[in-house]
Amino acid sequence: MKISDVRTASVRGNFEWILVRVYSDEGLTGLGECYWGAGVEAVVHRLKPLLVGEDPQNVDWLYQKMIRGMSGAGSTGGTVVAAVSGVELALWDLKARALGTPIYNLLGGRYRSRIQVYADCGKGAEPVPQAWAELAERVVAQGYAALKFDIDNIRPDLFADHEHVGTGRRRGWVRAQQQPISNKEMDLMVTLAGAVREAIGPDVDLALDCHWSYSPRDAISLARELAPLRLKWLEDPTPPDNIEALKRVTDNSPLPICSGENHYTRHGLRTMITTHAVDIVHPDIPKVGGLLEAKKIADLADLYYIPIAAHNVSSPVGTMAACHTCAGMRNFVVMEFHCLDVPWWNDLVMADGPLIREGYITLPEEPGLGLELNGDVARAHLSEGATFFE
Ligand SMILES: [Mg+2]
Repeated sequence: MKISDVRTASVRGNFEWILVRVYSDEGLTGLGECYWGAGVEAVVHRLKPLLVGEDPQNVDWLYQKMIRGMSGAGSTGGTVVAAVSGVELALWDLKARALGTPIYNLLGGRYRSRIQVYADCGKGAEPVPQAWAELAERVVAQGYAALKFDIDNIRPDLFADHEHVGTGRRRGWVRAQQQPISNKEMDLMVTLAGAVREAIGPDVDLALDCHWSYSPRDAISLARELAPLRLKWLEDPTPPDNIEALKRVTDNSPLPICSGENHYTRHGLRTMITTHAVDIVHPDIPKVGGLLEAKKIADLADLYYIPIAAHNVSSPVGTMAACHTCAGMRNFVVMEFHCLDVPWWNDLVMADGPLIREGYITLPEEPGLGLELNGDVARAHLSEGATFFE
């Protein structure tokens, strides 16, 4: 079997989901996904000459060939690794379909038959306790036993230095510098998070995301203020560049610290793991290098007894692909679902009912990914100017 073509279809959900299809000369195809933003789809097309004519079953060799082949374009992270990841996912789907078995059987087999999902809730409609509590109750009523809220940058008028505030593309506000957390802002964060904990009770897991916003000292103070809420984790407290600063937070935090979605490949996550700079590693699987790279990261983390949670903003395609590798991670804990606000998320694939039921995704028994794309729904939501695998 030889790879004959690589094509893409960019679908606009709450993120830009770049679907990747790898074609073979035997008629079988494999479907993958990566994300997001400018350039990723173009890089997938730049990878095509490295792939055509190769045996798609040599996934690890092809991963290395793509990474090495793109080293001049910056293959240690970012757009290049995201694009490589999308191809890698499609190669696993193609190989597993050719062999007539689910992908997880090719990655060491399963530790579990279903994957727990935590629901990303974003922020309450207003920065008041009632709005945050209502949102939490609504999501728990959908069957989720684990939630995450964005606790950062809620009311920029409370920033200690609010002259240096920028508007973010999605979250509304970003700290342009490491502005300190004012006492008023800290009180609001603790009040809103407390309202969520009170609404969901002690047994639903709750994580809070800081989106790389704070200095180590402020992050430690925040963790101490939030400690009574018994969080599953506090996420990305400090900017992603300096692992020593992150480690200082982790070493001094009464709450577990989680990070990793802004890092790429084993090399990118190595120091974070080997120095215990986090309590939980949080790679984004359709972005970090793909299924086998994520498995290798999980194995490295497991040597240090560090659990894995999977960051995820993908369509059902990337989400299910990630489930196949999470199934085989000894130290896997939970995977994100970031699309509560996309009513057609589930319709993008052919499935018997919702993919996520009572907060879990059941692993399929069918070959490959175990799901098929719904072309009509994908076509209806193509990104502006995008084509459907043309
Ligand atoms: Mg995050």
